[in-house]
Amino acid sequence: MIISHGVRGSVPSSSPHTLKYGGNTPCVEVKTNNIQLIFDCGSGFSKVNFLNNAQPILFISHFHHDHIQGLPFNNFENIKNKKILITSAHSNKDIVYKNLSEYYSSPYFPVDFLKISNVFEFVDFKEIVSRFSDLKINSMDLNHPGNCSGYSITINNKKFCYLLDNEYNESQEKDLISFCNRSDTVIWDGMFLESELSDKKGWGHSSIEQGVRFAKEIDVKNFIISHHSPSRNDNEIDKLQKSFIGTNIKFASENEKSEF
Ligand SMILES: [Zn+2]
Ligand SMILES: [Zn+2]
Repeated sequence: MIISHGVRGSVPSSSPHTLKYGGNTPCVEVKTNNIQLIFDCGSGFSKVNFLNNAQPILFISHFHHDHIQGLPFNNFENIKNKKILITSAHSNKDIVYKNLSEYYSSPYFPVDFLKISNVFEFVDFKEIVSRFSDLKINSMDLNHPGNCSGYSITINNKKFCYLLDNEYNESQEKDLISFCNRSDTVIWDGMFLESELSDKKGWGHSSIEQGVRFAKEIDVKNFIISHHSPSRNDNEIDKLQKSFIGTNIKFASENEKSEF
């Protein structure tokens, strides 16, 4: 099961015009019987329902605020006799701890959150890959200011790819195709329209149109466009979605569950 808890890029966008697709920043959960994989902890992280009998692993793509701003705001119910493993291919565990503890302490946060919370264990990405070798976890460096890590996992022969935030560049094409090929689900950064890209060069995001072209290059069942611009309203996304009828391309929608 894949659950989108947050699909909005950059900053939460709460208005009557974003209710349908949702206003929370990135967080995607992939859940199987005994494992709960969470990709990023934007504001959507508050809605992750931790399970009694599953091991949670939180993968951080990078440290831009929209991907970490939800970390303290989950109620962490059912996290009793285990820890949430936090990891990132972007940085080693000491840097992950340092970055998050700086962000969640004075002057940015009222308490030293990581010192008072007792629910996390920081683990190097390499160790996660070997400890959970049956998940076939891979990462890829994306094109983003300060770098960003994309992830792929394969569970029970089903492959999932998470590729937020990435400024698509033709030089990536070959590597991206081999990283994503034969996937069941690919999540793509479609923050901008092609017409908006020229003003946003260097901001680290791709266009919806680039996603549509890329989806045709790879063998993928469900190609999901996410990291919606905070200014993109439901009507605009609905219109674009209509133009994709009959294809495997879909806009991510908050709270949507899909089989995996
Ligand atoms: Zn982002
Ligand atoms: Zn970013």
